[in-house]
Amino acid sequence: MEKAEKIWLNGKMVAWDDANVHVLTHALHYGTSVFESARCYETGKGSAIFRLRDHMQRLHDSAKIYMMRIPYSVDDLCAATREIVKINKFTECYIRPIAFIGYGEMGLNPGKNPVHVSIAAWKWGAYLGDDGLKRGIRCKVSSWRRIDSAMMPPAAKAGANYANSVLAKLEALNCGYDEALMLNARGTLCEGSGENLFIIKDGILITPPPAAGALFGITMNTVIAIAKDMGIPFMREEITREELFLADEVFLTGTAAEITPIREIDGRPVGNNGRGPITEKIQAKYFDIVKGKDEKYKRWLEFV
Ligand code: PMP
Repeated sequence: MEKAEKIWLNGKMVAWDDANVHVLTHALHYGTSVFESARCYETGKGSAIFRLRDHMQRLHDSAKIYMMRIPYSVDDLCAATREIVKINKFTECYIRPIAFIGYGEMGLNPGKNPVHVSIAAWKWGAYLGDDGLKRGIRCKVSSWRRIDSAMMPPAAKAGANYANSVLAKLEALNCGYDEALMLNARGTLCEGSGENLFIIKDGILITPPPAAGALFGITMNTVIAIAKDMGIPFMREEITREELFLADEVFLTGTAAEITPIREIDGRPVGNNGRGPITEKIQAKYFDIVKGKDEKYKRWLEFV
């Protein structure tokens, strides 16, 4: 990770190396954090953070599920994010806001422990590689099932969820794959370790329904809007492992992963073993939108 100069921490700009926490921080022991992931792109008319308000609203929604009170409004957090991009002189960057239960009492009850908030930004290229964006990546269906909402809420983007994701990611990497695809407890497709999943079959774009247990992805929502605009038929439907293997095209979506095609799953080529034509069209449109080349979606750009 390439250091930047400053990190926003509890309302103040602090030096990157000074943005530290106590080892008895509640979140470090019990996973009591909620976080976000956002990206800032150069648009030709200045840098803009893509759907920043939606990310900060989701941060508040995640906190609500965990009964965590974030002491900053969505507006405050958006303003702080613009500041952290500006002060570090970034034109393009990745942004990581996090709210977490701090040091105070130990034990599961967060009680009166403070809720800290930080927003960091740094340079981060394609999460699954530039080559992955063009040629597609290789995925493994994980032996780890995605957390079920009967056990913990997958729609809250909480640090704790990612212990499950890390297990799946490590397994996939150790087996020589690039990324994990996770089934839910019922055995139908849910999402990647940190991305939503789409398949294309006979020209129809399909992603699992909310009840399948994936995070309500902002990139997923963007792709659904793009599909509607392009007249690509779209459905939310359970996807079985067989349907995944027999799909014409498969891709992952996420703020970090952007739109990453999948070219192979568990040793089986997907479609033409590369980026499919519909995926390529949606991906090109996505990059046009985030880079300010599509007037229709200007409302999603928060200029720095
Ligand atoms: N699912 C999981 C588990 C994730 O971590 C992410 C990344 N935030 C996503 C889906 C995609 O969400 P978004 O498009 O909002 O980044």
